[in-house]
Amino acid sequence: MQQFSNSDSGDIVLAIAQRIVENRVHLSDIDGLIGDGDHGVNMAKGFGIAAERLRGKARPLSASLTVLGDVLMTEIGGSMGPLYGVMFSGFAESLNDVVEIDAAAFERMLRTGLAEVQSIGDAKVGDKTLIDSYAPALEAFSAATAKGDGFATALDALIAGAEKGRDSTIELVAKIGRASRLGERSRGVLDPGAASCAIILRSLAEGAKAKLRVVP
Ligand code: ADP
Ligand code: MG
Repeated sequence: MQQFSNSDSGDIVLAIAQRIVENRVHLSDIDGLIGDGDHGVNMAKGFGIAAERLRGKARPLSASLTVLGDVLMTEIGGSMGPLYGVMFSGFAESLNDVVEIDAAAFERMLRTGLAEVQSIGDAKVGDKTLIDSYAPALEAFSAATAKGDGFATALDALIAGAEKGRDSTIELVAKIGRASRLGERSRGVLDPGAASCAIILRSLAEGAKAKLRVVP
């Protein structure tokens, strides 16, 4: 079985925050096509503040997720602060009492985060939001473990599912959020939230993969 330790994995969250900050211009460019062009700016602000708080301090993964969730909830504008805030806080709560994170604990974490985002945002698959990246990613992870794949292989499936889901938003018409005001004109470009969600999930999966240990 493959697993990784909660206690020394807080640096995964710093890496996620850094990836978002690096993608600031890219994410705002995408939002410029169907929104108000602030997605990268909003995201880089919150994730940048979190990165400063996380840098140089070793923490458990669950504790770093709590820091990120709290910062997002209180310090970013736009739709994304509360949505990603509850997602990361949900991840944190689900891992709080977990010492060794195996594929089952990781899946519970992902399910909790998705339920939290949907409980406040009410978006479903097909609405052209971050859910179109998140839900297929979780489904791909879950399907991989269900057919007996190891944790590392399931994490690869998660990344592929997130990116395929992100790309599926090109063909969709936005049903929720600012872009929904454009109706049919929102078709033909990526959803910015789906793009940032795919970056987050890839970075989370790669961070977890790098820490995996095989245990009997
Ligand atoms: P704003 O729309 O306020 O300018 P951002 O540009 O930061 O905020 O974020 C836009 C993204 O937010 C969209 O691309 C979409 O993925 C996501 N989003 C908006 N509303 C919801 C919702 N209710 N549920 C899930 N995601 C949403
Ligand atoms: Mg915007």
